[in-house]
Amino acid sequence: MKNEERLCPYCQETFQPSRKNQIYCSYECQYSHYNERKALRREEAQKTINKILKNWEALYSVMSKNQLNDCTVDEAVLLKKGFTPGYITHMGADPADQSKIYCICEFCYKINGRKYNISKVEKDES
Ligand SMILES: [Zn+2]
Repeated sequence: MKNEERLCPYCQETFQPSRKNQIYCSYECQYSHYNERKALRREEAQKTINKILKNWEALYSVMSKNQLNDCTVDEAVLLKKGFTPGYITHMGADPADQSKIYCICEFCYKINGRKYNISKVEKDES
């Protein structure tokens, strides 16, 4: 370790480590790097959350026009409302035929070609 020089991954300065496992030149660089990476992860998560919210709004918009009863719409209708396929909160399988059911909170849908069969699942209050 004597006279060993390392490059700090945050400030890009070379430094002499005082510990064998020292990665950063200082705690300040270590925390700043950690905080920046955390902020980036949050930003990425926020993008996904925003898409899920937009999808929920699209499903709600379609369902509310139908008094929240089950309905079938063309994928194009949802896409026009800003829907992004693939952004869901959870999924399951229809016990009747094992077909996939995609859900965004209380709204669930099955895909049939370009048609979406949407329904609202009542919350279990037990
Ligand atoms: Zn540094």
